[in-house]
Amino acid sequence: MSIILGHMDNISGFNLDKMEVKLVEGKAIYQLLTNNGLIGVNDLIGRELKIHFDKEINCTNCGKKIPKTYSGGYCYPCSIKLAECDMCILKPETCHFANGTCREPEWGLKNCMIPHYVYLANSSGLKVGITRTTQIPTRWIDQGAVAAIPIIKVGTRLQSGVFEKLLSSEVNDKTDWRKMLKGDNAQIDLQSSRDELFELFGDDLDDLENKYGSDQISILENEPITEIEYPVLSYPSIVTSMTFDKQEVVGGKLQGIKGQYLIFDVGVINIRSHTGYKVHLEL
Ligand SMILES: [Zn+2]
Repeated sequence: MSIILGHMDNISGFNLDKMEVKLVEGKAIYQLLTNNGLIGVNDLIGRELKIHFDKEINCTNCGKKIPKTYSGGYCYPCSIKLAECDMCILKPETCHFANGTCREPEWGLKNCMIPHYVYLANSSGLKVGITRTTQIPTRWIDQGAVAAIPIIKVGTRLQSGVFEKLLSSEVNDKTDWRKMLKGDNAQIDLQSSRDELFELFGDDLDDLENKYGSDQISILENEPITEIEYPVLSYPSIVTSMTFDKQEVVGGKLQGIKGQYLIFDVGVINIRSHTGYKVHLEL
C-alpha cells in the first residue's frame, strides 16, 4: 500500500533508491520508498513536484557519508569488495565463479548461479538482454521497454552472458535512453525477430546447448510477448537531463515516468543513478 498524498504534504529527508516497479494489467506502476513509507509516484503525475538534494550522499551498502558514489550508489571500499559491483556483473560472460574467485561466493550462488533468461525487448528499438528469471518484468520496466519476450532459458548468469554476446553481433544490447524517453517506439514484431535470430544462429545455439547440456539450456519458441504501458502524459521532443551533481533542486510539473526516469516539463532525471543521495520532496 502506498501513502495517499494530500495537496500540501511534503516528504522529509530520505536516501533515494531505485523506484520499485510492478506491472498491473499491462501498466507500469511506480513506488518510491521514503522514511514515511512507499509513495505511489503514478499519483503525482500532472502535479508540481520538487526534489531537493540535501547535499548528503550515503553508501547504499554501509551507510557511510561519501562525496560521490561508485558503481551506482556505493562508497569506494564497498565498490571493490561487493560481488554486485564487480566487472562481471556488466559483462556476465566473464563470470569467474567457477574459478573460485567470486568476491562473495554466497551472493554469487544466490544471484548468478541460478536460472536466467535471454530476452528480446523494444526499448529504444530492438535489443537483446539478460535477467534473472525472478526479475521479470521488473528488468523490462527499469529499461523502459514497451514490449519484451524471453527467448532462451539458461542455468546460470555466465551462460546467459555467452548467449547474449553471440546475439549482440546482430542485435543491439544497449538502450539509447534519450530515444527511449522520446517515446516514439517503432512497432517491432518480437516473435518474428526471435525466429529470424534462431534461424541465423541455429548452429551456434546448438553448439552452446551441447556444450552446457540440454538440462541447462531451453530454446523458447513460444513464449508470449509482455507489453508495457507507461504513465506518461506527454513525451519530450528534446530530452534535457538533470542531475543533483549540477543542481540542488530538480522538478517542475511531472509529465510521466518511464524506465527509472521521472519526466518533468523542464527535463528528465534518472532516479536510479542517484541511489544514496539524500533528498526531500516538496509537493
Ligand atoms: Zn560503503
